[in-house]
Amino acid sequence: MKGSIRILIIEDNDDDAELLLLKLKKAGYSLSYEIVLDEESMKAALEGGQWDAIISDYRLPSFNALAALEIAQKHDPDIPFIVVSGTIGEETAVEAMKAGAHDYVMKSNLARLIPALDREVREAEIRRRRRESEVLLHQQETLMRSVVDMLPVGVGLVNNNHEIIIANRAFKKIWGNVNRLDEKELSNFKGWWADTGEQINPGDWSLLRALKNGETTMDKMTDIVCHDGTRRTILNSAIPVYGENHVISSAVIVSQDITKIMQDEAKLKKTLSDLERSNHELEQFAYVASHDLQEPLRMVASFTQLLEIKYKGKLDKQADEYIGFAVEGAKRMQRIIRDLLDFSRITNNQQYGRVDMNEILNSVLLDLSVLINESGAVITSSGLPVVNASDTQLKQLLQNLITNAIKFHGENFPEIKVEAYTLGNEWVFNIKDNGIGIDPQFSEKIFTIFQRLHNREEYPGTGIGLALCKKIVESYGGRIWVESKPGMGSTFYFTLPVQPVTES
Ligand code: ADP
Repeated sequence: MKGSIRILIIEDNDDDAELLLLKLKKAGYSLSYEIVLDEESMKAALEGGQWDAIISDYRLPSFNALAALEIAQKHDPDIPFIVVSGTIGEETAVEAMKAGAHDYVMKSNLARLIPALDREVREAEIRRRRRESEVLLHQQETLMRSVVDMLPVGVGLVNNNHEIIIANRAFKKIWGNVNRLDEKELSNFKGWWADTGEQINPGDWSLLRALKNGETTMDKMTDIVCHDGTRRTILNSAIPVYGENHVISSAVIVSQDITKIMQDEAKLKKTLSDLERSNHELEQFAYVASHDLQEPLRMVASFTQLLEIKYKGKLDKQADEYIGFAVEGAKRMQRIIRDLLDFSRITNNQQYGRVDMNEILNSVLLDLSVLINESGAVITSSGLPVVNASDTQLKQLLQNLITNAIKFHGENFPEIKVEAYTLGNEWVFNIKDNGIGIDPQFSEKIFTIFQRLHNREEYPGTGIGLALCKKIVESYGGRIWVESKPGMGSTFYFTLPVQPVTES
């Protein structure tokens, strides 16, 4: 028993049709069929159903096999078309085959029909499958080409005759609309190795090395003059592709234009070095200015103090007041100059060493003992680590933060806690007080030099302390910030990297 088959029969002779059907049924097909006599009924049958094959008489009163064949081919070029005729001569048969009929069978030799039909149906199925896979392949290729075309890096496929098989848009932008990339073509490109500045020998291009020697080269940085005359920096890579018998059939070349990245990087480097230079100059200036101002200022301060000692109470009341202002002004200026000098001395290249933060804190508390006793401050600490830093800087840092915590106390005696914990590869220090607090809107501003939230009468100070702290912390790659609310105390945080402590 064969499978099911749907046959469209074009036949006007009932006896012949009968005979044909008998043959088909006898062959063991589970048969469904329709018999048509003319063009119109044939078209209707084709539209109305799916057919595995068409068997057509050669000549009918108002129709013929060649006309039927044309209709069938228009409808589906794959459908097997077999001419069956009693009268067909050799020439006519050849004509039918030339027109595209798949076979012809004489009515006197119907025994040939079944094997011919089997073969043609089988081949039609193969043709149909091949066509489907061709369509699929074409779709995939179109998709692949559009994806490759969209890529921001140049992608090309060059065969071993140096012909460019695939070149996406980015590739053409670099290499131009060339059809070939061989030694001659490549020698037209001016190219230099980006690291040495040496000219590239034509044979050294990644593509040629891949095609000739099967070498894979990755990200060779080159400066080239592109086909449009622009000079660009390109990262070139090439990989050989092997065909049959392990012979190099082609090479994939990938060219990434990094001109913009390199330009941006150069700009960034320049900005950074400009910034470093101007920062350095500014530091130098602040240092020289504050250092050189110290001497004349010392004279002003000491002579106004002498004036005060010698003439206080001997001139009139206004003179005493004026001298008092001058003495106070000179002292304040000395404080500012001293703080500025400290500020300008903070640099990244300090001597690092093992610094025990407990010892630093004790030394700060000792230095501040008068202030602590006068204010009744209670200072506790826990978990302070040993870090790798400059002890002078860390002392300045803690001293400023603790002085502020005492200075900006509220109605209660100052209570200050100094603690530290690790978070990732950082130490997080916090100095918590119960003072007047800070409005969060000023939490960044207070770290800027000379920014103060109070006037001198309320709280003395120069407005340099926190800027100095920030500079110190940032010189170790750390951060400093405050969390506070007015009337609720403040907690100042700063981070230092956790790293192996080196003995100095
Ligand atoms: P100075 O203490 O000389 O005024 P700083 O730079 O040390 O300068 O501090 C800037 C400002 O930040 C201070 O004037 C003060 O308004 C605020 N501030 C700093 N520390 C505290 C604190 N612990 N509590 C409340 N306000 C603070």
